[in-house]
Amino acid sequence: METIQIAIDGPAGAGKSTIAKRLADHLGFAYLDTGAMYRAVTWKAMKLNVDLEDEEAFGFLSQTRFDYIKGSLTLDGEPLGDEIRSREVSNNVSLVSSHQSVRETLVKRQQRLADNLNVVMDGRDIGTHVLPDADFKFFLTANVATRAQRRFKENVKRGIHIPLEDLKQEIIKRDEFDSNRTISPLKPASDAIVIDSSNMTIDEVINTIEVKVREEDSNGFN
Ligand code: C5P
Repeated sequence: METIQIAIDGPAGAGKSTIAKRLADHLGFAYLDTGAMYRAVTWKAMKLNVDLEDEEAFGFLSQTRFDYIKGSLTLDGEPLGDEIRSREVSNNVSLVSSHQSVRETLVKRQQRLADNLNVVMDGRDIGTHVLPDADFKFFLTANVATRAQRRFKENVKRGIHIPLEDLKQEIIKRDEFDSNRTISPLKPASDAIVIDSSNMTIDEVINTIEVKVREEDSNGFN
């Protein structure tokens, strides 16, 4: 069976996860959040107390299991919650995700998880490396003030209080790190459709993507 793969990349706080998840629901596709996998590895490494700078210390990945069960990531069979969204994890995840062996392992797992599925996958390198032949590639962006504001509101809902200006600086730092790393840096694939959502609502972005996917897909799914 022909499957359809949709890649959604973009910087921190661009609304990728919310949009990718809802889009997947609308289309009846699976949703894979690759950022959650890098966060889970960072969280596990911190729990194991390993030196995050030391690539060799990530050998534990070969005995680490990821599954997506009903759209949610599990790590070693356990569901993951807000612990992977903590400030500490957010501020260390770019370092962990810059290690070549960590990326190679996770990219292989992501490709295996997406195999034979109609899938929406979000991250930083989906269109460029994980699913280079994806049927649709979108790169979601928004100005940094808007992205910080969105993160701030998400945090408030979770009961996390980080001052807006601190969040903005942390986002800028993470984007810089992600965009300038040597391996698979954050950038739009040459064939990605770039959407600047600074002045759009979540629903408008989902609608824009959905219209494009439904228009161009000749299989007439759903
Ligand atoms: O999407 P999210 O903000 O949860 O991603 C957390 C971090 O994981 C990113 O800042 C980036 O360092 C890393 N990441 C990545 N490649 C992906 C997804 C996330 O390097 N495909």
